[in-house]
Amino acid sequence: METKTRRTNDHPFGHPWEKVYGASGRKHGGSVVRLELEFGTREQKGIIAVDVDQVVADLHDTWLERYNKDYDDHVTVWDIVDWDITKFVKPECGNKIFDYLNDPTLYEDVIVIEGALAGVEHLKSCGYRVVYATSCHIGMHDAKWMWLVEEGFLPKANTQKDLISLSDKALVRADYLIDDRALHIHNFVRAGGEMGFLFDAPHNHANTDLFRVKSWADVVRYF
Ligand SMILES: [Mg+2]
Repeated sequence: METKTRRTNDHPFGHPWEKVYGASGRKHGGSVVRLELEFGTREQKGIIAVDVDQVVADLHDTWLERYNKDYDDHVTVWDIVDWDITKFVKPECGNKIFDYLNDPTLYEDVIVIEGALAGVEHLKSCGYRVVYATSCHIGMHDAKWMWLVEEGFLPKANTQKDLISLSDKALVRADYLIDDRALHIHNFVRAGGEMGFLFDAPHNHANTDLFRVKSWADVVRYF
C-alpha cells in the first residue's frame, strides 16, 4: 500500500501541526487508507472537510450588500473583525442580521472565493476526498447545495454524499478541516481530527494559535 510522504523540514510552513497541536493524536498518520464507499472500494489519501461560507463561497459580501441596502449603511467585510457580526451593524438591525440567512435567494448572488474551485480540484487530484461541512439556517440547505452544484463544487448527480450540514464540526469524521471559524477548528481537532486550517478572514485575525492559510494558494502549497 502506498504511503503518503509528508513534507516536513523543507516545507515553507515548517511543522504547523506539531507546533499547534503536538505530533500525537493523528488518526491515520498520513497513510493511505482504504475506505468502503457506496459504489465500491478505492484507495485514497484521506478526507478533507471544507467549510463553505467564507472558504469557498463569499457569503459576507452578498449578506452585507443586502444589509447595507436595507439599513442605509456601508459595512464591508473588513469591518467585521469578530465572529459576532451584530457588533458591526446598526442597533435597529441587531439580531435581524441573521434573518438574511433564512432567505433561500441569498445564494443567487454569492460569488466564489478566489481560487477555491481550482484548489478543491487540486486536492482531489492529489488523491483526497473532499467533502463540504457547513452550517445551514432553516431553509438554506438546498439553496447552498444548489449553489455548490452550479459553481462546480459538486456534480449534478451528487446524492449529497459529499455534503454535510451541521453546526458542530467536532462531529466531522475527516482527516483535515479547512474553516474560517477558529471554534470549529478547535472542536474538530479536539475530537480527533488530524489538523485544521484556519482560512483567513477579517473576523478571525485576532486568533493567533491556529495554523492559518491566507488563500487557496496557501492550501494548494500545503498539500
Ligand atoms: Mg465559514
